[in-house]
Amino acid sequence: MILVVGHKNPDSDSICSALVATELLKARGLEAKAVRQGDINRETQFILEQAQVEQPEFCNSVAGQDVWLVDYTDLAQGPDDLEQANILGIVDHHRLGDVTTVNPLEAWIWPVGCTSTILFNLFKMENHEITKPMATLMISAILSDTVGFASPTCTDKDKAAVAELAVLAGIDDLDAFIKALLIAKTDIEGLSAAQLVEKDLKAYPFNDRQLVVGQIELATLEQVDSMIDALEADLQRRCDEEGLAMAALMLTDITTSTTRLLFKGEWSAKLDAHSEAGVLMMENTLSRKKQGWPWLQGVLA
Ligand code: MG
Ligand code: MG
Ligand code: MG
Repeated sequence: MILVVGHKNPDSDSICSALVATELLKARGLEAKAVRQGDINRETQFILEQAQVEQPEFCNSVAGQDVWLVDYTDLAQGPDDLEQANILGIVDHHRLGDVTTVNPLEAWIWPVGCTSTILFNLFKMENHEITKPMATLMISAILSDTVGFASPTCTDKDKAAVAELAVLAGIDDLDAFIKALLIAKTDIEGLSAAQLVEKDLKAYPFNDRQLVVGQIELATLEQVDSMIDALEADLQRRCDEEGLAMAALMLTDITTSTTRLLFKGEWSAKLDAHSEAGVLMMENTLSRKKQGWPWLQGVLA
C-alpha cells in the first residue's frame, strides 16, 4: 500500500493532488491511499463538495511505509517521521527541498503553477481515463494555486490543462466557477487569530534557523483590520514557544495583488527599514513562492 501525502496545513492542491495521484497509482494497478496531515480548509471543502469526493483520512505518521509526496519536497512540511519512510514518488511544483531517498524514485517536478497540472499531464501520457470527479479536483486545484490565473506562478501548461479539464468536469461557465472558488478561498469569517496564522503556514529552514511564513488570501485587507494586534501577538507567541528566528504572515488582497506583511521575532529589525509607520506593504505581491519568500530571503540574507 502506497500512502500519498500532501504537505502540513493542507491547501487545496495538496488534498486534491493526493486524491488524484492515488487514482493514477490505482490506474497503474497499484494499491494506494490518499492521506492528509491536517484539517481541510473551507475552499477545499467547497471543492470536495463540487467533486463529490470524500476527504482523505488523517495520517501524520508514515515510518516504514511506502509513500508518494505531492506538493512539497521539504522534510519540515512532511510527517515528522518522514525520514523513516520509503519515498517512492514525488509530484511537485516547488523548488527542490531537502528530502533524500534510499532507493531510486519516480520524481515529477515541473516549474508550473500547480501539482495537479503535472498529474493531468501524467494521466494523458499514460492514457488513463480522467473521470469527472478527478477533473473537478484537478481544475479546482489549478485555479486555486494560480488564483484564477492571476499568480505569476501560472504557466501556459496550467491554462491548457484548465481548458481541457473544464470540458471533462462539465464546467460551462468558467468565470462563475472561479468566482465561487475565490469566495470560498477568502472566507475567514469566525476564524481566530491563531487559526488564521496556522491556515497556510509554512516552515522554512534558513541559515541554520527556522522561520515560518504564513499567508491569508483575502478579498480585501479590511477583512483583517480589527485583528492586526491579535495576529501579531500570535506570531510573537510562536517565536517564543518554538524558538523561531522570525514568524511572518502575508495578508494578501488577491483582487489587487497587494500584500501587507506582519512579522515578529529576533530578525524583525532587518525588515524595519522596509516599513512605514510599522506597516510593511508589498505591492504586486500575490505569490509567497515566487514573490514573498524570495524577497524575504534577500532581505534576511
Ligand atoms: Mg501547496
Ligand atoms: Mg501547489
Ligand atoms: Mg498555496
